[in-house]
Amino acid sequence: MAQIVILGGGFGGVVAASKVRRRLGNNHRVILVDKGAMHLYTPSLLWLIIGKRKPQEIQQGLALLRKKGIEYINAEVQSIDPSMKVVATSAGEIRYDYLVVSLGAELAKDAIPGQKEGINFYCLNGAELLQDELKRFESGRIAVAVASTPFKCPAAPYEAALLIDSYLAKKGVRGKTEISVYTPEALPMPTAGPELGNALKTLIEARGISFNPQKKLQSITNLVLEGLNRGKEMTFEKGERIKADLIALVPLHKAPAVVKESGLTNETGWIPIDGKTMKTQFENVYAIGDITANKLPSGMMLPKAGVFAHRQAEVAAHNIAAEINKTGGMKGFDGKGYCFLEMGRGIAGFASGNFYAEPKPAVTLKRPGRHWHWGKAALEKWWLWRWF
Ligand SMILES: Cc1cc2nc3c(=O)[nH]c(=O)nc-3n(C[C@H](O)[C@H](O)[C@H](O)COP(=O)(O)OP(=O)(O)OC[C@H]3O[C@@H](n4cnc5c(N)ncnc54)[C@H](O)[C@@H]3O)c2cc1C
Repeated sequence: MAQIVILGGGFGGVVAASKVRRRLGNNHRVILVDKGAMHLYTPSLLWLIIGKRKPQEIQQGLALLRKKGIEYINAEVQSIDPSMKVVATSAGEIRYDYLVVSLGAELAKDAIPGQKEGINFYCLNGAELLQDELKRFESGRIAVAVASTPFKCPAAPYEAALLIDSYLAKKGVRGKTEISVYTPEALPMPTAGPELGNALKTLIEARGISFNPQKKLQSITNLVLEGLNRGKEMTFEKGERIKADLIALVPLHKAPAVVKESGLTNETGWIPIDGKTMKTQFENVYAIGDITANKLPSGMMLPKAGVFAHRQAEVAAHNIAAEINKTGGMKGFDGKGYCFLEMGRGIAGFASGNFYAEPKPAVTLKRPGRHWHWGKAALEKWWLWRWF
């Protein structure tokens, strides 16, 4: 009997657990550990900030996995010991024969002074808070600010800006609002190449949203607390200061401390893997999704996105089961991915391509239309049904 342990019940974890469970007989155990009780469908946080989704509509309980024969343990992973093949959790030690690490990226809470003055819309609480602020918002400046790279879903800050534009237009206050994106990137979605980046820049600028590249955020000050009239002030590298009334923030991303402390990460701060098999340097340890450092032929890193976590999970699950069942026929991850780019006003774009293409990723953006918007909504429904 083999014991397969999956760490994390996010995008990669639920797919890996489900796929490996289906391929193995009941004499093998599949255990999934997550510190949370719920699986969050993150792409829909963007609809939540403009009131188009409720929290309960975009989550599923991880306990539902038990009906598929997956042993879900609600516990915090405290250490991983690849030499002893043991994971320590707040619910006790778990031995493994195969380990899949899908612990995602952690969002730093205090990476820069005054970070709490910005609203982290990359998590459920922050997205709800931003929704409340937007309901109250009547006029002024809104900044969508990316604190640092890498960050998950390279399109999300731009989608957020476009959705805020559409929400405020419907509310009748767009004419009294400035929306700006500030990012350390030179162009949107840089790994996908300059053609796509320029196309997305043109799309957001056509909505009157300003794109401010190569801005490295250093701190945020609350001007009201400083005794000044209203708003906040962002300070960027080289001392540049910009005021905003509302800051939607993408905070610094880092690997969860337990992964670093267990010695699984390298100098990038993430877990290095074989980009085809998802194997790490440790025997029978796989890593998938946002936690990984996956260097592309172009020298850049594979972006952090759910679509990659999903497809990598399928590869890892297939290969683990093939090894246990001794069926052979190993699979490899091909670097292909896609994303719906929600733009508000009932339309979305669609970017897709091969990130393993040489010498650089080959990614294209389809013309925005209503059908892509409905595609994104259908994918949400399918995801929350398929894996639970
Ligand atoms: C606003 C937004 C929009 C997005 N839109 C898209 C999109 O349209 N398309 C797309 O492809 N991607 C999108 N993404 C990115 C996508 O959410 C991530 O890339 C994906 O979730 C990565 O999956 P993962 O399994 O690697 O990590 P996660 O899904 O983050 O899962 C990690 C899990 O590990 C658990 N965990 C962490 N530490 C511990 C610990 N110590 N002990 C126990 N459990 C722990 C967490 O609770 C979590 O459940 C979006 C993200 C955001 C924030």
